[in-house]
Amino acid sequence: MTADARCAMCSGIERIRTNGAANLIADLPHCYVMLGDSQFYRGYCVLLAKHHATELFLLPPSEARGLFDELRLVAEAIAAVVKPWKLNYECLGNQEPHVHWHIFPRDEKDTMRNGPVWERPEALRKVALAPAEHRQLIAALAKQIALRIPDARVPAN
Ligand SMILES: [Zn+2]
Repeated sequence: MTADARCAMCSGIERIRTNGAANLIADLPHCYVMLGDSQFYRGYCVLLAKHHATELFLLPPSEARGLFDELRLVAEAIAAVVKPWKLNYECLGNQEPHVHWHIFPRDEKDTMRNGPVWERPEALRKVALAPAEHRQLIAALAKQIALRIPDARVPAN
């Protein structure tokens, strides 16, 4: 695992490693799985690669493969919990150039379902869950991830 001192995401990962985080779902061998802040797309998660790289192709191949396996299994876990019509996967990094994946569950009834989630104004996406629902969703996702990834470390709740 390598970090870049100038990278805000590496600093965030160091804080998670040291102090944990309220939205941490699981600590996996190649990434941290976080519940996204904006829950309009209920079950939206972000996977933060533990190894700093600005592009997927700059990750050591074994890290990239490991991260992809975890992405695939976390997606399956999200699907088991929120039963989406479709999942969207995005690896952008324009604002935070450190490999991370957004996984968005999509709803068939969403009138904007044919477009990327970013077309919906941010103010509408910023839906916060009630504290109990937040804890419940994290626990349900953590349970499904742990079933699929034996090495997963999930916070006690
Ligand atoms: Zn970084």
